[in-house]
Amino acid sequence: MPVPFADLQLQYQTIKVEIDRAIAGVIRDNAFIRGSYVDAFEREFAEAAEVAHCVSCANGTDALYFALKAMKAKPGDEVITSAHSWISTAAMITHSGATVVFCDTDAATFTIDPVAIEAAITPRTVGIIPVHLYGQPADMDAIMAIAQKHELWVIEDCAQAHLARYKGRMVGTFGEVATYSFYPGKNLGAMGDAGAVVTNDAALAEHMTMLARHGGLVKHQHNIEGVNSRLDGMQAAILSAKLPHLAAWTVARQDAAKIYDAGLNQIADIVVPEVASSRDHVYHLYTIRHPRRDALAAHLNANGVQTAINYPTALPFLPAYARFGHRPEQFPNAHLDQGQILSLPMFAEITREQQDEVIELVRKF
Ligand SMILES: *Cc1c(COP(=O)(O)O)cnc(C)c1O
Repeated sequence: MPVPFADLQLQYQTIKVEIDRAIAGVIRDNAFIRGSYVDAFEREFAEAAEVAHCVSCANGTDALYFALKAMKAKPGDEVITSAHSWISTAAMITHSGATVVFCDTDAATFTIDPVAIEAAITPRTVGIIPVHLYGQPADMDAIMAIAQKHELWVIEDCAQAHLARYKGRMVGTFGEVATYSFYPGKNLGAMGDAGAVVTNDAALAEHMTMLARHGGLVKHQHNIEGVNSRLDGMQAAILSAKLPHLAAWTVARQDAAKIYDAGLNQIADIVVPEVASSRDHVYHLYTIRHPRRDALAAHLNANGVQTAINYPTALPFLPAYARFGHRPEQFPNAHLDQGQILSLPMFAEITREQQDEVIELVRKF
């Protein structure tokens, strides 16, 4: 029985009536750009994310750019982020004009190590971008304490962590601004690109709205120079149709993770994802470690189980950052992980039979 890595078609089939109705409504109302569907989704997502303001935009990468611009990152500034993330997090720091400074992850959780942050701070440091990687919150108490001590701002990259909580508090509510992606495969995904920045600060929300919409709030009034990064009505309507299901989908992912944990953690050489106390993991990805990762992946793939490596090269070692001349010893955990991590099939609709198949194949290996 083949097991896909994710199954967006299956998700669509379970809510087909709602999605089709949403798309038809946008076409009927001619509400392709801006309009009531976008406004409604911004309101609904702000409520779900437990923040005052949601500013939608074209994707999660742009969201990071607007957040950095709102924090006034500029040439000469240094911004600290995790060595282990998707490239957007680091690339947008560079595009804001600032310099990206990488920190190693902690050995257990794949999230940025607060001890490494403290060691990386210089007089030029202006902010920190923790990433709630794979769906597990970073250590926000420690990070916020460092930020306060050194007067730094914090932007949370929540692209993989919709509805995740740290000590009961929603991710994205700790820092000045937080960013979300609604890329189709994310826990809340559009049928195309989509993203958002969220904040409790009305002035920041207004500034980021202008950045995303040609620099103005009203047509032909360009207060600043912005870009075109609007969420389109079709994606907004699809996201509004999916949002009411997100809590149940999250529980389904967490239940599936428990089944993997129980089935895999007695197997020699397999390290199942560790969840630190007081953190709710939403399992955008279920990522194990294995010393012979490539052979394990080949075995699973040959038997019809799709897997992924998120990500095969840690950010400091990508060609894009060759100019820094980073060495493996500077990021020992991220460097070790890049050769050992393997993401297993994980989606809300995954069946017990599919998971048993994966577990059995891992056991045989
Ligand atoms: C997906 C993702 C992004 C970028 O989002 P896009 O919508 O693909 O631009 C940024 N950061 C992380 C951690 C992500 O996983």
